[in-house]
Amino acid sequence: MILLANGKLITRDGAGTGFYPDGGVVTDGGKIVAVGTTAELKAQYPQAEFVDAKGGVIMPGLINAHTHIYSALARGLSIAGNNPTNFFEVLDGTWWAIDRHLDMEATKASAQALVIDSIKQGVTTIFDHHASFCEIPGSLMKIAEVTQEYGMRACLCYEVSDRDGDEKSIQSVQENKDFIDYCEKNPSDMLKALFGGHALFTISDKTFDRMVAANNGRVGFHIHVSEGMNDVYDSLQNYGRRPVQRLQDHDILGSKTLLGHCIHVNTAEMDIIKATDTMCVNNPESNMGNAVGISPILQLCQKGILVGMGTDAYTNDMLESLKVALCSQRHNACAPNVAWCEVTDMLFRNNAKIANRSFETPLGVLKPGAAADVIVMDYKPYTPFSDENIDGHMLFGMTGRQCQTTMINGKIVMKDRVLTQIDEEAVNAHVLESSKRLWGQLNHREY
Ligand SMILES: [Zn+2]
Repeated sequence: MILLANGKLITRDGAGTGFYPDGGVVTDGGKIVAVGTTAELKAQYPQAEFVDAKGGVIMPGLINAHTHIYSALARGLSIAGNNPTNFFEVLDGTWWAIDRHLDMEATKASAQALVIDSIKQGVTTIFDHHASFCEIPGSLMKIAEVTQEYGMRACLCYEVSDRDGDEKSIQSVQENKDFIDYCEKNPSDMLKALFGGHALFTISDKTFDRMVAANNGRVGFHIHVSEGMNDVYDSLQNYGRRPVQRLQDHDILGSKTLLGHCIHVNTAEMDIIKATDTMCVNNPESNMGNAVGISPILQLCQKGILVGMGTDAYTNDMLESLKVALCSQRHNACAPNVAWCEVTDMLFRNNAKIANRSFETPLGVLKPGAAADVIVMDYKPYTPFSDENIDGHMLFGMTGRQCQTTMINGKIVMKDRVLTQIDEEAVNAHVLESSKRLWGQLNHREY
C-alpha cells in the first residue's frame, strides 16, 4: 500500500477538476483505494509507504491515444536524397523506408526508447500502431515484452498494408490475429489489442475482407483515415466512395474502432462516424509538420463524436500536443476564443473514455477503484491555482518533462526523475547502437 501525497491533487473525477490544495491518493495493488487530503489519508493509512509529492501537482497519468513505436529511432535522422514535397513522399521517403529496415532487434530498441521517453513525460498508457515490414511475425509480442517489463499500459496493433506486396500484407493480418489470440488467452488490463490498418489507400477490398475475417468481431480497428487528400482521391477514384463510407461498407466502424486523423472528412462522413459511435484521434503537431491540414475538431465535437488526442510519435509530450491543438484550432478558425474546452476535454476526458473502450479499469481519473496510474508534476505556480483555472496552467505553464514521479498500475516506475526498474544509461547505449545500425543501412555509411 502506497500513500502518494503532499501535493496539489487533481482527480478529474466529476464535472470539475476535483482539486484538493493539499491532497493525495492511497493505492493498493494496481488500484486506488482512497483519495483525500494529506492529513486525512496519513491518519487513516498510517501503515502505507509514504511517497512525498513535495508540493508538486498530483494528477492522473496521461494517455497517448495514437503513437508509432516504429519511428522512435528517427530522432535526428536525415535520409540522403529524401526531400518530400507532399504527404505521400513523407510516408514513402521516411517512414516506409525506416520500417522496411526494422528487424526484431530494432523494433525492440524502438519500443524501449519510446516507452522510456513516455514514462519520463508522465504518459502511463499508449495506443501504439506498429509497422516493421522487414520483420513482421512476432513484432507485437516483442513490443509487448518491453511494455510489460517497463510497466507501461499498452494497446497494440500492427498496421496492415498492401504496400509491400501480398505476402507481407497477409503476414501483417496474421500478426494482428496472433496478438489478439495471445491477449484473449492471457487477459491483462496492462495489455490490449486492436486490429491495425495503415490507411485506406494501401488496403484493397480483399485485404479488408481478410482483416475482418481474421478479427471475427473480437476487437476494434485502429486505422489512419483521410490524413492526406491522397487518401480521399484514392477512395473516390478507385472505389467510388469517400473513405469513411468505404470503411462502413467493410464493417470496420463501431464503438471500439479508432480512426486516426480524420482531417478531410465531410459532414456526411461525420454523420456516419457519429451514428456508428466510432472514435477519432487528433494528432495536431504531426498534422502541421506533414502539412496535411487541420482536423475539423470543432465540428467533430459539435456532432458529439468522441475525439481524443495522440501524438503520432511526433513527440511523446501530451502537454505539448495540448498547446499545439489549441493554437492550431484557433489559427484555423481565425477565432481566438474557440477550442479551449474541446482540446482540454480531448486530453483529460476523452482519452480516458477511448482507453476504457479497450481497458476495463477506469483510467484518466483518480478515485477509489480506478487504476493506480498517477503522476506528479514538478510545477510550482506563481499565480493563483484552483479548480477554476487549472486547465489554463496546463495549457500555458506545464510541460511533460516536469513529470517527476510516474506510477503505473500501482508501481512507481520513475521516482524523482530516476527510472526505478530500468538502467536508463545502459538501455540508451543499446538503443544508440541500434540507431547507428539502422541509420547505416538507410544511408549506406557508418555513424
Ligand atoms: Zn499515425
